[in-house]
Amino acid sequence: MIYQVGEKSGIYCIESAGQARVYFVGAPDYALIDAGMPGKADKVITALAQIGVQPLQVKRIILTHHHWDHVGGLWELKKRTGAEVIAHSRDADYVSGKRQRRAPRRLSGRMMFTVVGLVGAHNVATVEVDRRVNDGDQIGSFTVVHTPGHTPGHICLQRGDCLFSGDLLLATSPAFRETPHIFTADVPTARESIRKVAKLEFQTILSSHNPPYVFRAAERVRALASKLGTIPE
Ligand SMILES: [Zn+2]
Ligand SMILES: [Zn+2]
Repeated sequence: MIYQVGEKSGIYCIESAGQARVYFVGAPDYALIDAGMPGKADKVITALAQIGVQPLQVKRIILTHHHWDHVGGLWELKKRTGAEVIAHSRDADYVSGKRQRRAPRRLSGRMMFTVVGLVGAHNVATVEVDRRVNDGDQIGSFTVVHTPGHTPGHICLQRGDCLFSGDLLLATSPAFRETPHIFTADVPTARESIRKVAKLEFQTILSSHNPPYVFRAAERVRALASKLGTIPE
């Protein structure tokens, strides 16, 4: 399933790629944000066909971070599209297989790491990263915002009044929440990243595990940031 976010944004949300959404941004970028879960590349290609986009038109696949629900379809999608694969310099080695994925520090995180490993989360096909980016870099019309914590090289992407936020937070109703700590490599750093994003201006947030939130999203991030000190780590 694919739908446009708002009326003429040129941003499309693909909800058929597993747990994590894949976003597609049309002209002039022709970029996919993330690559979905293993085995879902066909669904992404089918969704793109529904809006008249052929695989070879996709120019870039930008990864918000290296987790399997975001890169599982990457090998297949790169093969079918020939697109340039882009990731932050601190997550790129996990995507390309030069570094092994590691369990979070806290016990609950280590247990979750073991559980998702049983279903193949640590064995996704490795893919060479063509371009490594850092905070403030420009990728077409996107600006990279390095937001470490969930993973070391987690990024958000700002484009006009939209922010692609990956797993930085959960854009839930009635208030935004932190991503569950069991999935987060470094909770204090992740909180610093939420405070960093709270200083930006945007209307729409495009997160991976919730539907797009299209009105005054930055105010909701600021509300979450102001509460963080009062929530136990
Ligand atoms: Zn994640
Ligand atoms: Zn995720």
